[in-house]
Amino acid sequence: MTPRLIIVVPCYNEQEVLPITAPMFLEKLKSLAAAGQITEDSRVMFVNDGSRDDTWNIITRLSEEDEHYIGIAQSRNRGHQNAVLAGLMTAKDMCDITISIDCDGQDDINAMDGMVAAYHEGCEIVYGVRSRRDTDTFFKRFTAESFYKLMNAMGAEVVYNHADYRLISSRALRELAKFREVNIFLRGMVPLVGFKSTSVYYERSERAAGKSHYPLKKMLALAFDGITSLSIKPIKIIFMLGLIVALISFVGIIWAVVEAILGNTVGGWASTTCIICFLSGVQLISIGVIGEYIGKIYMEVKQRPRYIISEKTWDNDKSDKK
Ligand code: UDP
Ligand code: MG
Repeated sequence: MTPRLIIVVPCYNEQEVLPITAPMFLEKLKSLAAAGQITEDSRVMFVNDGSRDDTWNIITRLSEEDEHYIGIAQSRNRGHQNAVLAGLMTAKDMCDITISIDCDGQDDINAMDGMVAAYHEGCEIVYGVRSRRDTDTFFKRFTAESFYKLMNAMGAEVVYNHADYRLISSRALRELAKFREVNIFLRGMVPLVGFKSTSVYYERSERAAGKSHYPLKKMLALAFDGITSLSIKPIKIIFMLGLIVALISFVGIIWAVVEAILGNTVGGWASTTCIICFLSGVQLISIGVIGEYIGKIYMEVKQRPRYIISEKTWDNDKSDKK
């Protein structure tokens, strides 16, 4: 059976880039439909993530111009991950497969052919993986690559050089919907869903217009969030560190006592200060990490909604549903 596809596109303040990339998505959709890979009634779904500019107006205008464009709006800005999730969860009851992609044209839309082909061969999840990062600045490339290495070292398994460009079948999405956590990091969660999956490779190009919303600060926050939502390895590392420090201290104490008994003790101000500084540093870091986990638990316990959809470009009664 030919699958119905919905391309899910998160948009935050993208008025410059949307008019350029929207027709590209539509064209891809039509060529896939013409090739018989997907149904004619497939859709491009924009998720407006509380943009402050003209983005939502552009989306509604697009949806009036062509029925293949649809849009939903989050009630406020909740961040990229939540926007993608909102789109995927809305789309999952309306289609057979979804492909999530950024709206800035950085991800090569031609990789979609390979993704859909892999679905036809039985894969439920297909990761878009960047084969090269030549167009990124050295700094962006370095920080992004360190990001993946750090994540994996810390026990959060993510697909190397894969961002949020991927195909997920509605079957896999229904399983993903059962992951109830509020701290979401899709790159780490989707592999946990399992099913048959594969990767397709593409070259990442430059943003078509506008500027990145992921400066270093946000990227570090995302890495930290990803690690602490997916793994408790940092807590284990702290525990090991604590053991090692305790062991060293123990030896130090014996040494100090022996020296005192032998009557060799001198001022010792410097060594005492060093030890105090070191230990208080270790303790503060440890408390910080544990605090981060407690914060996460606190957020999870509240069970707040992960997204709130305030508007849709289609009518619920004359539903666009399958
Ligand atoms: N985005 C979003 N909400 C945000 C920030 C970004 O929906 O709070 C969207 C943005 O419109 C884009 C995608 O997430 O489609 C990726 O953002 P960006 O291109 O700025 O990140 P980069 O590619 O530089 O990592
Ligand atoms: Mg981008």
